[in-house]
Amino acid sequence: MSDGTDELTVVEQPKLHVAPPGHSRAGHRAFGWCSRCPGREVWEELLAWRQRDNQAIDETPTPDRVTVPSREAEKVSADG
Ligand SMILES: [Zn+2]
Repeated sequence: MSDGTDELTVVEQPKLHVAPPGHSRAGHRAFGWCSRCPGREVWEELLAWRQRDNQAIDETPTPDRVTVPSREAEKVSADG
């Protein structure tokens, strides 16, 4: 089954922020962190992207929706 070798091309580009495996490269490039980082939630990254986009287009970084943890997150926090 292992016909093709794992071609993990390691390109040394010091300008690019390299995210740890499983993390969002885009998130690390833009913010230096992502939702997979310890202590970060998905909604935090979503908010960061929205603020970033709003700032790029609009002058207000205020998100259009109130930022609250998702129902799934509430469920998890209620569990533990
Ligand atoms: Zn990360």
